[in-house]
Amino acid sequence: MRPLVAGNWKMNGLSASLAELGSLQDGLAVLGLRLGSDVLVCPPATLIAQAAWKVAGGAVALGGQDCHAKDSGAHTGDISAQMLKDSGASFVIVGHSERRQHHGESDGEVAAKAQAAWRAGLKAIICIGETQAPRYAGDANQICGKQLDGSVPGGATPANTVIAYEPVWAIGTGKTPTSADITAMHAHIRACLVRRLGKGGREMPILYGGSVKPDNAGEILNLPEVGGALVGGASLKASDFLSIIRAISGS
Ligand code: PEP
Repeated sequence: MRPLVAGNWKMNGLSASLAELGSLQDGLAVLGLRLGSDVLVCPPATLIAQAAWKVAGGAVALGGQDCHAKDSGAHTGDISAQMLKDSGASFVIVGHSERRQHHGESDGEVAAKAQAAWRAGLKAIICIGETQAPRYAGDANQICGKQLDGSVPGGATPANTVIAYEPVWAIGTGKTPTSADITAMHAHIRACLVRRLGKGGREMPILYGGSVKPDNAGEILNLPEVGGALVGGASLKASDFLSIIRAISGS
């Protein structure tokens, strides 16, 4: 299975930031056949259409950072999965911890958003992850198992869904779990997916996210059951993001 390195720009980026996408494209072209992963960038929705022109014909796919659970209607300010697809996206992140924390999104809403993504022909990147207190209390497996059960709809397959394990306490903090803890959690997530989805659960990619940087990417991305990375801060600069991509490509 080819790994996926996905960048989440969050609420960062204006038209001028598209120059970073150009630099990313150039760097990937230099890697050429040595590029060992698929590469995705999720800019703010306002930039997707312009970004699609910028990356046309290259190795970078585009994604949204969230979508509404409905296809259209009276939802002022919201963006549907169909709109993201129409702008040039092929993926959408759903259930990011910042959406769950700051917008009160429940597992059920995240599942409905994943289904909306599928209806639009987008691949859903469904995020799960525990906060610090359950990690210390030894409840991380139970929390993540519950999020998987509630957020991943029954129709999930490796063709329409990617899971991103992002411990909330590691996002943007510079802290990461130990390699042993990442390995143990990814094994747990795999077991939960297989129990729920059977064969499809065996092949569904599981990304790690949370303070992935050029200097730790090689170690993290080579752990068992880590099918790639979801990268926040370090995806904003093409040079950092390329270093992470090179770490997985071994070059
Ligand atoms: C994220 O928010 O998805 C993320 C992984 O952020 P960071 O890499 O900055 O920790």
